[in-house]
Amino acid sequence: MAVPKRRTSRTARKTRRANHDKVAAPALTRCSNCGEVQRPHRVCPACGFYNGQSVVAKPAPAPASTEG
Ligand SMILES: [Zn+2]
Repeated sequence: MAVPKRRTSRTARKTRRANHDKVAAPALTRCSNCGEVQRPHRVCPACGFYNGQSVVAKPAPAPASTEG
């Protein structure tokens, strides 16, 4: 079995983890109906539209969006 020849330095270890374990920013698109920023492949949280048609009956206007 392969055994590491040298201990991984703190810098090398942290660099590897910084590049691999980082949190990716969520993909965002604009709603085709209202233009609000939304996540792709999801019903628009602002107007309830998806794929050009209303699929959720006019959701209550949320004062502050808590959904990430
Ligand atoms: Zn919308």
